[in-house]
Amino acid sequence: MLVKLTSVSKRYLIGNAWVDALKNITLSMDKGELVALTGPSGSGKSTLLNIISALDQSDSGSVLVRGVNIGTLSEHKRSVLRRRQIGIVFQSFNLMPVLTALENVIYPLVLSGVRDARSQGVQALRDVGLEKLGSLRPAQMSGGQMQRVAIARAIVAQPDIVLADEPTANLDSRTSENIMRLVENLNRDQGITFVISTHDAYITNLASRVITLCDGELVNDSAVAAVTSARQTLKRVGAQETQT
Ligand code: ADP
Ligand code: MG
Repeated sequence: MLVKLTSVSKRYLIGNAWVDALKNITLSMDKGELVALTGPSGSGKSTLLNIISALDQSDSGSVLVRGVNIGTLSEHKRSVLRRRQIGIVFQSFNLMPVLTALENVIYPLVLSGVRDARSQGVQALRDVGLEKLGSLRPAQMSGGQMQRVAIARAIVAQPDIVLADEPTANLDSRTSENIMRLVENLNRDQGITFVISTHDAYITNLASRVITLCDGELVNDSAVAAVTSARQTLKRVGAQETQT
């Protein structure tokens, strides 16, 4: 099991009222999955991704990444986890404007003291189809190209999992489809696990699993629903067998 959340809850104080951003979330994700995380605005998608990526901490429950309880790690260990094991992609790309595309991609590797950062960065840019644009700065690129650079940065350290928070929300529909085709290829060819929060039906259609949140609660998980339905089918078949 790559990621295992057990009874994860998170509340925020807004003004003088507590808001339940996540209520008692229990779920697991396996290597190689392409998970779409859906739900209306304010349903807790970003909070969930931020907790899995150790950018934020839950109030209760546990989050295991490859068996390690990330809630108990020091801030230093959590930042190492983010650089090496978890790739993160944001809606607004979050590239550093003064760095070139290649420098943005290798930045986490350089921070980790990786020696051949440059060649790994060139490979990651090739993986996202931008091998020729490594020397451009973000202001010289289109939105789709910037998001490709952000994806290259997320995969460059060969993480266990890439978490993307509405990665296509700032892109037109054609560019969004191209980005999602890229994600699909990386998932299929390199076995990279993705969890993508989205309102985009195109993404939920190509995902291997859809998890839906509403008001901080997990209201549907297609993987769980599939198991339940298989059990029900078995039960029905079993029932029929005893009847005949
Ligand atoms: P989504 O990504 O699905 O739109 P969020 O996880 O951003 O949902 O938000 C879930 C709830 O938690 C919302 O009610 C939101 O206002 C609240 N929330 C999220 N982050 C914070 C924060 N840093 N401070 C206060 N409230 C927050
Ligand atoms: Mg959000």
